[in-house]
Formats: sequence, C-alpha cells, structure tokens
Amino acid sequence: MTTPDVVVPSPSHRYEGTSLEARDVRMRFGPVEVLRGADLLAPAGEVVCVIGPSGSGKSTLLRCLNGLETRSAGRILLGGEDTSTMDINVLRQRVGMVFQHFNLFPHKTAAQNIMLALRHVKKMPQEQAEAIARQRLRDVGLADRAGHRPTQLSGGQQQRVAIARALAMEPQVMLFDEVTSALDPELVKGILQLMADLARGGMTMVVVTHEMGFARKVADTVVFMDAGVVVESGPPEQIFDAPSSPRLKTFLSQVL
Ligand code: ADP
Ligand code: MG
Repeated sequence: MTTPDVVVPSPSHRYEGTSLEARDVRMRFGPVEVLRGADLLAPAGEVVCVIGPSGSGKSTLLRCLNGLETRSAGRILLGGEDTSTMDINVLRQRVGMVFQHFNLFPHKTAAQNIMLALRHVKKMPQEQAEAIARQRLRDVGLADRAGHRPTQLSGGQQQRVAIARALAMEPQVMLFDEVTSALDPELVKGILQLMADLARGGMTMVVVTHEMGFARKVADTVVFMDAGVVVESGPPEQIFDAPSSPRLKTFLSQVL
C-alpha cells in the first residue's frame, strides 16, 4: 500500500490576500430596496469592519459579496475581476463566509463538516480531505474534537469548526457575519483572537460586528452602514473618535 502524497498548508500559512470591492450595489426584496447603492473596498490583506444598526443591510451586503444573494444592480469585483461572470461555486470557494449561528450539519462530526465541501465541491480524495480537516482543526485549537458532533461542542468550539471549514477551502477573502453574537460572553474573546490571528496572517476580511473594541484594534477601515447605504467610512480613529455624520454619532452614543 502506498500512502497518498498529502500536502497540507502549515498553520503559520500566510494568506495571499485578494481585494474585494462592492460598487453601487443595490438589492431589493419585493418592493423594498434594502441596499440602495452600497460601496465597500477591502484591499488585499486588509480588514474592513462593518458596523451599523440592525436592519441596515449589513448581512445582505455580505451575502451579495459571495453570491448567496443576487444583487439587483451594481458590481462586485474580486481581485479586480467582475464576479458576475464567475461560476457561483468558484466564487463561494474564493470568498468564504462564517455565520452567527455556525450553520454546521448537526449529524456530522467536526471533521466530516469540514470534509464535505472538500470532497463534493473540490472533488478531493478522502485521505487528503481528512488530512486537511485534521490540520485545520489543529489550527483553531480543536485537534482533539475531530470526532465530536456539534451538540457535543460548546458554541465557541462550534464556531471554530465553522471557521476551520471555511479556511479549508483556501478562500482568498473571508466574510464574518456577527460570528460572536450568539456566543456566551466568556467564549467571545477566543473567537476574536482567532480572527485577529487570521488578519495578521494577511487574510482579506470583511467583518460585520458589534464588537467595537475589535473593530478599533483590528480594522484597517471601519464602514458605517445605515438604511442600505454606507454613510461614512475611514480608519478606526476617525470613525470612533471623530465621526462626522449625525447618524454615526447617534449610533455610537448608543453602542459605546
Ligand atoms: P442587518 O444585517 O444590518 O441587520 P439585513 O441585511 O439582515 O440587515 O436586512 C436588511 C433589511 O432587509 C431588513 O429590513 C430585513 O428585514 C430585510 N431582509 C433581509 N433579508 C430578507 C429576505 N430574505 N426577504 C425580505 N426581506 C429581507
Ligand atoms: Mg445581520
């Protein structure tokens, strides 16, 4: 028997960041226009944090960025390439996403959750998919939980599996939608740390978050959305210490 030649990126992998840009993106659900011309630029290797009130269109914008929703108008560019001509599976491989409620398959183990897309989307042999799942679980501190099902894991551990699953696809950009909002307070810090590590590794990231401390510390750019548009964006010091629009001032007075 020969062992297949398995190549797994090392945990200290430096990510080859790719820029992601939304230009004048519009999205309507029936008669309601929930994105009314949203612009966002995440340069390669940088972190953009998106803040704003509930219902302002943050999740919808993120979902448009990786093709989970189809925008009504506007352009989305990945590494300068228009994503509208890209195969949807390719786009979703290149732009990974992590959700508030983890979205793991409940009857599959941590390792199986990670292997699914590797096997079925990337058509990877079983052994190689297993090796990558093990490596990615190690990267997120869950080497000893590969055989556990989601119900046997804490919320923080489940979210680590979801992050490992997204990373296993070797995305060029990662989207995070309020990934700590459903976690017990004591588990939040570990996940934020993991995201900060990813950012340091050069991953391009768009992070919707209520964690203003994280945004201030990790973001290169903070984007404030309200009512389907980007009202203001800039470096964290500018957004948090010298906001110019009244809507952002009001929002910050409510959350800080
Ligand atoms: P946020 O993430 O900032 O809280 P969302 O992007 O989830 O905002 O929602 C923006 C608006 O779009 C809200 O008014 C919401 O009710 C509406 N919306 C979101 N998803 C749908 C959908 N699938 N069908 C109809 N309306 C939706
Ligand atoms: Mg949301």
